[in-house]
Amino acid sequence: MSGDSGLSTRDAENVAISANAHLALADLPSCVASLGHIAVGMAAGRGWSERAGTSPWRAMVGFATLSMSPDIDVVGMALGVPYGAPWGHRGATHALLTAIVAGTAVATLARRRGERWLPRVALACVTLASHGLLDAMTDGGMGIALLWPFTTHRFFLPWRPIPVAPIGMGILTGSGLTVMAWEALVFLPFFAYALWPRAPRS
Ligand SMILES: [Zn+2]
Repeated sequence: MSGDSGLSTRDAENVAISANAHLALADLPSCVASLGHIAVGMAAGRGWSERAGTSPWRAMVGFATLSMSPDIDVVGMALGVPYGAPWGHRGATHALLTAIVAGTAVATLARRRGERWLPRVALACVTLASHGLLDAMTDGGMGIALLWPFTTHRFFLPWRPIPVAPIGMGILTGSGLTVMAWEALVFLPFFAYALWPRAPRS
């Protein structure tokens, strides 16, 4: 906190974003905690591979892709969809209902012969839902439309310890690399679980 306004630079930035929901992609000062999404997805994939007896790398790539997929909304923003619109960044694709519907569909379509349906669907839904919830724990940008389509209100969780990463090539700046290093540390337990060598099951 600084100055007479009582707002930190980050707070002031967030207020400016909230006041201008029509920001275009190029105007965004920040984006998602990508490393965190990758870590959670890889951990889910590793857990699934051990349960199902499938290739760990294949499962980790699949679940990490699923975990990051809600950010597909940046394509819409590049085409002119405003940040604060229902289908803008952190909008409908980040909603919990979308996670349930999309997770059920993807897990059903990708199901292999002999795999149990319910555990696979449950893990896919949780992995997808984790994206919006993690974004809601970041300290920048607009909130997340977690309860879309019931409300377009953008939510943050009360605890927001994750710094947002600069978007695009901004990730290669000093502040971007600092955020990446911080995320790698915070999500180290997920990476460790995913990558820890284990003896193959007999
Ligand atoms: Zn996101």
